[in-house]
Amino acid sequence: MKLILLGAPGTGKGTMAQRLRDDLNIPQISTGDIFRKNIKEETPLGLQIKDLLARGEFVPDDITIAIVKNRLAESDCANGYILDGFPRTTAQAEALDSFQNIDCVINLHGEPEAIIARLAGRRFCPACNGTFHTSRLQSETVCPVCGGNLIIREDDREETVRKRLEVYSTTTFPLIEYYEKKGKLRTIDGDRYVDDVYDDILAVLKK
Ligand code: ADP
Ligand code: ZN
Repeated sequence: MKLILLGAPGTGKGTMAQRLRDDLNIPQISTGDIFRKNIKEETPLGLQIKDLLARGEFVPDDITIAIVKNRLAESDCANGYILDGFPRTTAQAEALDSFQNIDCVINLHGEPEAIIARLAGRRFCPACNGTFHTSRLQSETVCPVCGGNLIIREDDREETVRKRLEVYSTTTFPLIEYYEKKGKLRTIDGDRYVDDVYDDILAVLKK
């Protein structure tokens, strides 16, 4: 199954994508993870995009499209995949349509105030790429999976979050209409307990 997960930052998109990856046994392709890995490893791409990400701005479409196109051509994507964080612009969606046939687009809907509250408590583990929420952590600094040091992502700072939500509503929101017209969009209320949201997603995919 070839899936896209759409949703504003902080709707739990990444968490849902990880669960689907484990349950459906198909790779999760997160452009955000790919970019952060390049920044961490100080690759030429990483050095080029570091400041953009810190400011909450987008990586240019041509760079992003080329990376995803190459990634989807790898053999582990043959039976399907979950796209998390791509496409984010109409140009990216049109490019994707030119080389892939997507089965379903899950749209996780979240209210901005709920999102800001959620992201303020988000912690990230650079060692294992895990994302957690302070409300469910015993310690705000220790990764419950690998024991690594948890950090607040640069782009989770409130100012940056507001900027990202603004960017989302102007550039990514039009994708909802784009996929609705194609009859591929399924909208789910993301402002609920993670397990309930996930159950809804599975129910939608079974149809
Ligand atoms: P989120 O927490 O919003 O899911 P991601 O981890 O997906 O954030 O992405 C982090 C950052 O990486 C974005 O703010 C943006 O700068 C960049 N990025 C990720 N995916 C894309 C994309 N498809 N197009 C352009 N920029 C992207
Ligand atoms: Zn960890």
